[in-house]
Amino acid sequence: MSGVYKLDAHLYRQMLKQCEKEAPAEACGLLGGADDLSGTRIFPLENLDACAESYKMDPKAVLSVMKTLDENDMELNAIYHSHPATPSRPSKVDIAQAYMQVVYLILSLAGDEPVLKGFYIDEGEVTEVPVEIVEKAGEADVK
Ligand SMILES: [Zn+2]
Repeated sequence: MSGVYKLDAHLYRQMLKQCEKEAPAEACGLLGGADDLSGTRIFPLENLDACAESYKMDPKAVLSVMKTLDENDMELNAIYHSHPATPSRPSKVDIAQAYMQVVYLILSLAGDEPVLKGFYIDEGEVTEVPVEIVEKAGEADVK
């Protein structure tokens, strides 16, 4: 798999808000779109771990998101979570727990500015996926 993951800017802002709000615990959620590499729908989920170093999503919530996406001819294409105090790099636990063929987005809040990076994680092998935040005309800051 290769390419650039394109994330709608208003979804990025929503994700950032969620991650800042839930810090110092990690925040997490899912993204979907019409293909593998476009994030046009966001589904913030509860971090069942409620912890600063890991995240766990309710499998039932994940299935329900997949069903919603399927009904809209979309697919689940990314899982995001925050690293409130560490860099935007998959941790050992993140790598061990990655079992889906999707982009893993990590939003780090450790520096002065938030840093969002994307990765494919395949059987322990990590490959960075460039992420582009796409600003759409007329859609800025719709609430
Ligand atoms: Zn992590």
